[in-house]
Amino acid sequence: MKGVVFVGDRRLELRDFPDPTPGPRDVVLEIKASGMCGSDLHVYRASFTPGDTSSGFKRGAEPVIAGHEPCGVVVAVGTGVTGREARVGQRVMDHHYAGCGSCKHCRSGWAQMCLEGATVFGANGNGAHARYMKVPVDTLVPLPDALSFETGAAIACGTGTAYGALKRLNLQGGETIAIFGQGPVGLSATQLAVAMGARVIALDVSPERCALAREFGAHEVIDAGSNNPVEAIRELTHGEGAHKTLDTSGAGEARAAAVRGSDLGNGMLCRRARSGHARCEPGPLAPADHAGRLLDLLDAGAGRLRRVRRRPQCRGRQALHPPLAAGPGRGSLSGVRQPDERQGRDPAVMIFSALSRALPPARIRVRTRRD
Ligand SMILES: [Zn+2]
Ligand SMILES: [Zn+2]
Repeated sequence: MKGVVFVGDRRLELRDFPDPTPGPRDVVLEIKASGMCGSDLHVYRASFTPGDTSSGFKRGAEPVIAGHEPCGVVVAVGTGVTGREARVGQRVMDHHYAGCGSCKHCRSGWAQMCLEGATVFGANGNGAHARYMKVPVDTLVPLPDALSFETGAAIACGTGTAYGALKRLNLQGGETIAIFGQGPVGLSATQLAVAMGARVIALDVSPERCALAREFGAHEVIDAGSNNPVEAIRELTHGEGAHKTLDTSGAGEARAAAVRGSDLGNGMLCRRARSGHARCEPGPLAPADHAGRLLDLLDAGAGRLRRVRRRPQCRGRQALHPPLAAGPGRGSLSGVRQPDERQGRDPAVMIFSALSRALPPARIRVRTRRD
């Protein structure tokens, strides 16, 4: 079969691969739809360096078949696969990670956090831009008949990420959420949050995306290019800010506004330092009346997940607790459901740091120190 391979530096090739055959616990899918995701573009644009880990996973010796949003039909099952697990002809999506199968994260369904390092299909394991794809049977997600293969491919990554974020934020009907960025993940979040009964304030700098957000049910739409997003959110929320905020844009300004536009926000921002410690200092919008409140900010990055908890009373530079995190390359965006104590219990703000890599440096008042 032919497979699409990103060979680096914005080039791709159609290469020949043998048709896959399933191992005992594998199935082979005939791919009917294979999505392209923002994170594919990072891999597509970057140079290919064997062993490189800058993308949050370790590249292999050779580039692989691209595509991590697989959707298709089971055409072969391994000898150790039962009929309850998969059957030929079944319509499925695939959750595109494989782990060791025995560490605590794999055993709790979090292969992307595997302590041995996960295989990410389409990144360091063969993906879905090909006629066939071999995957472990426990990575399959059934595709209901009502959903098209194209919809399934979108759900396999982007829409699933948005859903995971909203669940992790514990969004409630009656709450107001501000969603920064109305690309595929943001628009998915808008649709889902509306369906969950929340009031959605959608923000983007693109008129087309703002129009789509309105079409998808957003109650308020803010053109973040010609408005001050934080002021606009406060105007729509009796001056209080949104109950929950979510940044899907990866833009520094939006991430800052996601913190400041939250009703717990207080202008205190922080981000990861290379040493593993973060320090922060007060921003210009730190109102004294937030004293005593805690801001939980969940930074779901490709490399790690970390809770940042801060007491507003701290003065000057204040060391946050060191990240309670897995090692580099052992997390993923899909890790937003990661259930252990490394995450904030009640985050009000969620940002996806992995999305910001390809963007220019943030022009926000953030200082990071290396210890
Ligand atoms: Zn993706
Ligand atoms: Zn594992």
